[in-house]
Amino acid sequence: MKYLIVSDIHANIEALDATLAAAGQYDHALILGDLVGYGANPDEVIDRVRQLPSATIIRGNHDKVATGLESVESFNHLARYAIQWTAATLSPLNREWLAALPAGPTNINGFVEICHGSPFDEDVYIFDDLDARRAFKAMRRPLCLFGHTHVPAAFRCDDDMEPIGPPRGERFRLPLDRGVSYLVNCGAVGQPHDGDPRAAFGLLDIEARTLTVMRVAYDVATAQGKIIAAGLPEVLAQRLAIGR
Ligand code: ZN
Repeated sequence: MKYLIVSDIHANIEALDATLAAAGQYDHALILGDLVGYGANPDEVIDRVRQLPSATIIRGNHDKVATGLESVESFNHLARYAIQWTAATLSPLNREWLAALPAGPTNINGFVEICHGSPFDEDVYIFDDLDARRAFKAMRRPLCLFGHTHVPAAFRCDDDMEPIGPPRGERFRLPLDRGVSYLVNCGAVGQPHDGDPRAAFGLLDIEARTLTVMRVAYDVATAQGKIIAAGLPEVLAQRLAIGR
């Protein structure tokens, strides 16, 4: 069984399409939230995700604010401007679909669970060892996949907890040892923040017991042009080119 892992698409259809093309054969997609916000194609991204033949999808904080489930108060001015634009742009049907997405954590099988921020709170960021230790205590499966920070990261825990990597470069292959727990962020598809502008995603092979964090280049210029044309803040376009 092979899983495609996708998080933080952020209305970037160019990055999502490049990811789906690079993913090759897989059995089931895991979509870890933040389908919308920042980018110029929220409806196109939702349409594409809805068309995936087999997928488990959970919501992110931007999805909640875009659909009015949560107030915009927690957002900085850039995110706020973009999410208000998104709310006004979304088709009524897609807004309804987005608002109905479940909160994580969600168990996929006996081995894997997914969440947007952390397994103890969908909105909490996992950045450092301290956050990871808290997450390992809350995990109900040996492998927890998360997103939200837009920075690929991996931790392992058997007797003690330690960070792995970090997962950088075009292909970072992580063997999954038996009897060990793993907490992994495969990065952001549509808004990477680790200095690598390429879309980041993951492929999990259950039989081979490997998780590969991958990068694929996409048409950044087209995504930038659409952000500018939509009247969204220019910095949202500029930062796609530097992955920050
Ligand atoms: Zn996000």
